Amino acid sequence: MDLSSFADGAQYIDGRLTAGTGDEPFEVVNPADGSAVQRVRLASPADVDTAVAAATAALPDWSRATPGARAEVLLRLSTLLADQAEEFAHVETAQTGKPIKLSSEFDVPGTIDNTAFFAGAARNLEGKAAGEYSGDHTSYVRREAIGVVGSIAPWNYPLQMAAWKILPAIAAGNTVVLKPAELTPLTALMFARAATAAGLPDGVVNVITGAGRSAGERLAGHPGVAMVSFTGSTPVGKRVAELATATAKRTHLELGGKAPFVVFADADLEAAVHGAVAGALINSGQDCTAATRAYVQRPLYEAFVAGVAELFAGVRLGDPRDPRTDLGPLVSYAHRDRVAGFVERARGYGATVVTGGGAPSTGHDGSDLTRGAYYRPTLITGVAQDSEVVQGEIFGPVLVVLPFDTDDEALHLANDTPYGLAASAWTRDVHRALRATREIAAGCVWVNDHIPIISEMPHGGYKASGYGKDMSQYSLDEYTQVKHVMFDTTAVARKDWHRTVFGDRA
Ligand code: NAD
Repeated sequence: MDLSSFADGAQYIDGRLTAGTGDEPFEVVNPADGSAVQRVRLASPADVDTAVAAATAALPDWSRATPGARAEVLLRLSTLLADQAEEFAHVETAQTGKPIKLSSEFDVPGTIDNTAFFAGAARNLEGKAAGEYSGDHTSYVRREAIGVVGSIAPWNYPLQMAAWKILPAIAAGNTVVLKPAELTPLTALMFARAATAAGLPDGVVNVITGAGRSAGERLAGHPGVAMVSFTGSTPVGKRVAELATATAKRTHLELGGKAPFVVFADADLEAAVHGAVAGALINSGQDCTAATRAYVQRPLYEAFVAGVAELFAGVRLGDPRDPRTDLGPLVSYAHRDRVAGFVERARGYGATVVTGGGAPSTGHDGSDLTRGAYYRPTLITGVAQDSEVVQGEIFGPVLVVLPFDTDDEALHLANDTPYGLAASAWTRDVHRALRATREIAAGCVWVNDHIPIISEMPHGGYKASGYGKDMSQYSLDEYTQVKHVMFDTTAVARKDWHRTVFGDRA
């Protein structure tokens, strides 16, 4: 894994790496042990302007490229990514601390599949059929690119988030300036470099490595940007929307989540317990759709808590490069401390920490974990619905379990947070399942599973989890605007409707 090419330049502008004009060094750190992965320099606001200028210059040709030509580049890119899959997985693991089995079995294959999907989707942009709706005109709809898209992404799935932001935008003929999270810029830069190697014209995809408050704000309010696509926390999303609204841009906001996991008394207990452990701990719980609040109907409650506690205790924490490791560190020491703060405050207001609730000192193989940003899988009970651990986004390996009695109560509690990104219902009763999928206000409701996503289906929030869809054909709606074209078919000079403005009926 040779990342030295990013040492001098961590800005990818107009088809090449450049140093940019920023003079603020930034160390990308491996949170497993605090070692430096790569030192980069953060973008200055002037670098953002240069990237937007490159995207603007590339727009006319790319937006006029045929769908087939765009698809060809994306297909080549998916092949190139597959060829470099191992390197992408290693860099992703180094900069985030996620287990290599997750990077190589989920993040990278998911990105390759997304790329192949959008190659096909580029050729399937749909509009209404042409027709004579007024009787005197032929109308049709053109689906057109919006322009330069400013994208801002989080650190939890850096490669996948870069792909989700870039692919639908360029498939639809837009050009992009992406700002990855400053903690994890490397795989987004590698993705842009691979896109150029696959034949993407210079300037269609630009990646700027910069801080939120400087480069991010500059991008969100930039006069040359037509649309801002943001994935990240709800408070920052609101700030980005403010900046975008002030300059009348279209926005797409994928924000935080606090997914409920509802287990009815007729559920398969073993499936629910296993689903809760996987759903809560994936990516160390740093997943916007992670299972965070389990509501369990009273007859199953004790057994569910015992089952999850037992599996949590057996999860193998360790070096993320080790293929046996289940759980790596959190993304940074600051984030680990933030997660720990939620748990400590919960102890303070009387919560029971059934298992976990602290940093481990040794890994599954006896290795020393004290230098990493690790946090043990943590199970909390005995808290009220309005407590901070039930309402707030912890974004760590922490699951809270609460009992319920009636179906009405469960569905009410599931909806009782500001968020609405994802949820799951666990039951063998089809009517219960149908009711839960209808009544839970979230962009995705799973039945008897939690987490799987697929390129063909939309991902996006309700309520404070934002609006707009990633992945699927629906995301192309986000990145296109429709134009109504209307042709007169009569060739009549004095049209009947003119009398409503001047003169009388002829
Ligand atoms: P964050 O909101 O702190 O940062 C996200 C991005 O915004 C980063 O690139 C950051 O540099 C940038 N940023 C920060 N301040 C900014 C500002 N003032 N102006 C412009 N840009 C700014 O989020 P995070 O901590 O990187 O990621 C975790 C969050 O992302 C969680 O809330 C999680 O739920 C959310 N998320 C949501 C989805 C989804 O699909 N809904 C997917 C992944 C993550």
